[in-house]
Amino acid sequence: MSGEGTTVIRNAAWIAAWDGGGHRYLRDGDVAFTGDRIVHVGGPYEGPAERSIDGARRFVMPGLVDIHSHPHTEPAYKGVREDHGVPEMYDTGLYERSCALSLDDPGRRAAMEMAYAELLLCGVTTLVDLSDASEWWLDGAGRSGLRVYIGPFFADSAWRVGKRHELLFDWDEARGRRWFDNAIRVMDLAEQHPSGRLRGIVYPGQIESCTESTLRDAAAHARESARPLTTHISQSRLEFQEIVRRHGKTPIEYAAGIGFLGPETILGHALFIDEHPDIRWRGSGDLDRLADSGASVAHCPSPFARYGQAMAHFGRYRERGINLGLGTDVAPHNLVEEMRLAIVLARVMAGRIRAVDTGEMFRAATVGGANALGRDDLGRLAPGAKADIVLLDLDHPAMRPARDPLRTFVFEAADRAVREVFVDGLPVVAEGRPLHLDPEAAGARLEESQARMLADAPRRDFLGRTGDAIAPRSLPS
Ligand SMILES: [Zn+2]
Repeated sequence: MSGEGTTVIRNAAWIAAWDGGGHRYLRDGDVAFTGDRIVHVGGPYEGPAERSIDGARRFVMPGLVDIHSHPHTEPAYKGVREDHGVPEMYDTGLYERSCALSLDDPGRRAAMEMAYAELLLCGVTTLVDLSDASEWWLDGAGRSGLRVYIGPFFADSAWRVGKRHELLFDWDEARGRRWFDNAIRVMDLAEQHPSGRLRGIVYPGQIESCTESTLRDAAAHARESARPLTTHISQSRLEFQEIVRRHGKTPIEYAAGIGFLGPETILGHALFIDEHPDIRWRGSGDLDRLADSGASVAHCPSPFARYGQAMAHFGRYRERGINLGLGTDVAPHNLVEEMRLAIVLARVMAGRIRAVDTGEMFRAATVGGANALGRDDLGRLAPGAKADIVLLDLDHPAMRPARDPLRTFVFEAADRAVREVFVDGLPVVAEGRPLHLDPEAAGARLEESQARMLADAPRRDFLGRTGDAIAPRSLPS
């Protein structure tokens, strides 16, 4: 099956169709696509078609849009990071772990392959991949079948843990400029890739790891090149304190003041803002700054929830008019599980069920992400949109009864229900298997690299500890 000609999904039991303003259910309809574009969503398709798919036991929905991920490293932290936190750093283990545990190049390549497969198998068709530049990245992304925004990391400083409570920064601005120049080169190459599915996203790594001039230059480059722009911001209390120490402002206030926020900006994670209960800053202007700028937030609940932290809260941001999308910051790369957790945590933090509902979270995971990327042709099933389409299996026991198939997908079945996936009209998952990726072989390679990563910890850790000392297993042995 190729992307040429027309494919029609006939008599689909359920369709999440786009009506121009929102998704709505259609019953017993057809979806047709020609090449990489959807040409029909609704009643019987009467035009010519080269291929036909029986939709009688399928829920047809748009592919999900994941706007924040690190596929080249995070799978290596399986079994390492889930219980790992540092009390002296307000429970975040991010800095200690990223300094002490570094994955080698073969491991990164294997991790990417595993993560891409996992993403396709949960219905993600567009991914923002924020990683270190590598020689094999574009080939791997192109081969996967995913639509990928390539975000090569650059920064002017590297984190270093000084004491249990101390985060230090080793500055090297000349190196940061070389990385920035190389990131531009890699983004240019991505956009020339023969797959036609790769684009660039400008990614200065963290708000506190870059100089003001680099952040200004990154924003200027994004606007000149019409590329989206992203960074990590308001992701820890340590970072909040560091920006206050340097500038006397909240991180969001600082970013707004230097012109970093605009409609092209995606902020991961914008969680520790001034009015968050863990911050209790003297004012509350951050949500207004986000709303006024048109910036989007990449919401990734898992890593924070594991430290006992949560956004406060999804419904509040949305009611203020802020565009929210979702991301998979850590393993598992399962955006449906993130949707479920985001709903539950929003309700817990708000203390009410109406903080967000399933339809609103589906919107964030589709058009919310697409809007963040400036794309009105993604995240929706409508004529003219890209043929990025997911078919869920209504015969899978986890999807039955499918009285409301979206709810059942998000709350019960998740990735188990994903049967077929198309990107640009090309099949990338068939019969629940990725067509262009081999996660089993990659998993074996990643196990070897993870062992090397843990063995190397004493050389890198500020206290010279072993990997097992930094992250003990969950049961004694
Ligand atoms: Zn991240």
